[in-house]
Amino acid sequence: MNVLVINCGSSSVKYALFDADENMLISGKRERLGQKSDDRKETHAQAIATIFSELGEHQIDAVGHRVVHGGEECHESCLLNDRVKAEIERHIPDAPMHNPYSLAAIESAQNAVPAVPHVAVFDTAFHSGMPRRATTYAIDQDVAKRHGIRRFGFHGISHQYAAGIAATFVQRPLDELRLITLHLGNGASACAVEFGRSAETSMGNTPLEGLVMGTRSGDVDAGVLLSLLRSGEYDIDALDELLNHQSGLAGLSGLGNDLREIERAAADGHDRARLAINVFAHRARKYIGAYAAAMGGVDVIAFTGGIGENSASMRGRILQRLEFLGVVLDEDRNRDASVVSDKDFARITTERSRVEAIVVKTNEELMIARESRRVVNASTAKPNQAIPIAISGRHCHLTQETFEKLFGKDATPTEYKPLSQPGQFACEERINLIGPRDRIDGVRLLGPLRSVDQIEISRTDEFKLGVDAPVRDSGKVKDSAPITVEGPAGTVHLSEGLICARRHIHMHTNDAEQFGVNDKDEVSIAVVGGERDLIFGDVLIRVKDSYALEMHIDTDEANAAELGRGASGTLQHADVDDVAENVYENVSKVHANVVSVKPKL
Ligand code: ADP
Repeated sequence: MNVLVINCGSSSVKYALFDADENMLISGKRERLGQKSDDRKETHAQAIATIFSELGEHQIDAVGHRVVHGGEECHESCLLNDRVKAEIERHIPDAPMHNPYSLAAIESAQNAVPAVPHVAVFDTAFHSGMPRRATTYAIDQDVAKRHGIRRFGFHGISHQYAAGIAATFVQRPLDELRLITLHLGNGASACAVEFGRSAETSMGNTPLEGLVMGTRSGDVDAGVLLSLLRSGEYDIDALDELLNHQSGLAGLSGLGNDLREIERAAADGHDRARLAINVFAHRARKYIGAYAAAMGGVDVIAFTGGIGENSASMRGRILQRLEFLGVVLDEDRNRDASVVSDKDFARITTERSRVEAIVVKTNEELMIARESRRVVNASTAKPNQAIPIAISGRHCHLTQETFEKLFGKDATPTEYKPLSQPGQFACEERINLIGPRDRIDGVRLLGPLRSVDQIEISRTDEFKLGVDAPVRDSGKVKDSAPITVEGPAGTVHLSEGLICARRHIHMHTNDAEQFGVNDKDEVSIAVVGGERDLIFGDVLIRVKDSYALEMHIDTDEANAAELGRGASGTLQHADVDDVAENVYENVSKVHANVVSVKPKL
């Protein structure tokens, strides 16, 4: 699938065409675009038409559009339809420098290639899972709600890309890492990426908050704005102009927004140029400290964007005095760091630095191409392909230590029969669970033995035992419920390990690709055609090359849908999901167990 990526800025359009192997076949940029058609300059729409005329013979199978602001409704990449375009339009006041031009470019591209899917990839999407404490401004919450005043965050595509590269660099999974990514270009923002998700970011409701930028102020005491308005010298438009266009490096230095100019002037002793550099670095350093505190630590700091990639002196200033965090800059590596080609990164800390710092060449276009491909695959995957459903009875996984305490020293599990997941088997051995209220005997052991004890029961079992076990992904037993287990050779009290397993689907990598989903995605699975049709939401996808396609639910869940041996369900995709979404909406509106709303799937 060849994906054409269109990345609209306020006065430029970057484009790139990627083939299925992520080779960039062609790329380019059209700059100095006019903002109105009577400007006598090329408009965004005209630029897109020109780009298509220059693409010549290249095949285009999908088009991915970067969109700055998707608001609350568009919290992930999606196919562009009228509803999505209306949302982008609705958020024009929040991103006036970007959303109108993206819309114009989308219309123009859809006119040029109407038969292929067009995908919107949002700058806000990566931050959509930020916790409430990070998205909420401390203002009257009724006012905030009425006006949609909350923090969204931007540059998400770049932060997500830099985070992925940082994980590759330290050769550890993203979901184990605490990262701080700094996108420092004309627009600038910092992001705390905690275990693969954006936990905090410096831009807020609009791309004006946070770091010092080329011409934008970043953080300013809101009281100053009130004073300026009260002074009578500033009206709303003048304030907008001041904060968005006459501030930042340009406002501080009086020399424009190009850091190269400012650095040259500073070297010649220009005081305001020096001030601009100091304020810029100080603000960024402050955010690094804050984010390390918010995450309780940091493993890697990644610099990207025009300034982050190219200005060794700015990187050096920002990382000054961070030794207390464990960051030890290597002056030589920092000076020599050069990231020119895509997928490049360079380390700028010493061998003994506990926290790594790296420079990453941002590649938003590649990220947009990847996301577009994923969305298109998901929308074209056969929604009716059946996923076999296995019903798990209560069972346990034990450690060697617990097993020996229950079954005797040097005992080993005896295989009873193999399970559908390769390498897994049911054992002859069974244990008894003893709860505060009652006991359940004969709980089957599954092999092989594991590194942690995990006992999986249903809600109904919990009532019988008199315990309250959390719904958990397999393996996540920390702080789960305690339980006493009994075997022929002894009894062990486990302080944690009892869970109600979260429903999930095991998938081989090839299945995941075919269904257009990724590891840790949550999907909905419909079970229809029987006596008790049901859509299971919040189903976790787990992808590994060693997995066979199978959904796992417990006996309570199976009973709710009247499922037995040989059951199967179908994955719900965006287009059919609209129906399901309506059903959910209706259900939540009446706050009741609605049994009469039947999805027409
Ligand atoms: P945008 O946000 O518009 O995409 P960029 O990421 O291209 O911006 O970053 C532009 C900024 O990078 C400008 O301030 C420019 O001065 C700065 N920059 C580019 N190259 C260098 C360099 N070699 N040294 C210092 N600053 C640089």
